[in-house]
Amino acid sequence: MINENLLEVEQRIQAACDRVGRNRSEVTLIAVSKTKPTSMIREAYELGMRHYGENKVQELVDKYEELNNELKEPIYFHQIGHLQRNKVKYIIDKVALIHSVDSLRLALQIEEEASKKNIISDILIEVNIAEEETKFGVTADQVQPLIEEILKLPHIRVRGLMTIAPFVENPEKNRMYFKKLRELNVDIKSKNIDNNGNDNLILDILSMGMTGDFEVAIEEGATMVRVGTGIFGERSYH
Ligand SMILES: *Cc1c(COP(=O)(O)O)cnc(C)c1O
Repeated sequence: MINENLLEVEQRIQAACDRVGRNRSEVTLIAVSKTKPTSMIREAYELGMRHYGENKVQELVDKYEELNNELKEPIYFHQIGHLQRNKVKYIIDKVALIHSVDSLRLALQIEEEASKKNIISDILIEVNIAEEETKFGVTADQVQPLIEEILKLPHIRVRGLMTIAPFVENPEKNRMYFKKLRELNVDIKSKNIDNNGNDNLILDILSMGMTGDFEVAIEEGATMVRVGTGIFGERSYH
């Protein structure tokens, strides 16, 4: 099942790239494996998938510890769910990218733990671009001031923006949000160009698009799409 699903998702990514003249290599597919067993990750790994998204710290750590030593090539875990400050220490040296930074307090904690391990942590700012009350993330207005503060922290590299668009039946309804996130990223990049070229501000990643809307997100400039159900099937929560 995973094989067929991956082939289909891959074809849809390619088709979306073709529609807007983008190169397939500009888009990283993150297989969202939350709630799914490591046997399914192994299966996807055999098929070439290297990037996995997890929501819960404990689950990420367990899967990392089981798989990281066993696999021949690297596997990259992404923290895509809300992150509590007291859990940063468990994942800081196990994640490739934290997608969900939404406060200076969280960034300060990441700084502290990254500095202890002497590593530089790659992060994205989570933006609640549709301003939904139920969602985490900062508003568009808060992104630039937050980044300015984070740039004072030497062990954090700001790689871009992430959003979770509203749940919709028709993905076209999210097009304007994806467009907004891309414009915000471009805007902040241009504002900071003269900012004596801080090496820790890169802004090369736009993490947006899930099973229901990743094609529209790619058409609007996503460089990372997070696909769970479309690869691993429906999730059941107990
Ligand atoms: C669960 C989740 C996804 C994947 O959702 P699907 O609709 O199953 O593709 C993507 N991003 C985040 C932040 C998630 O929590």
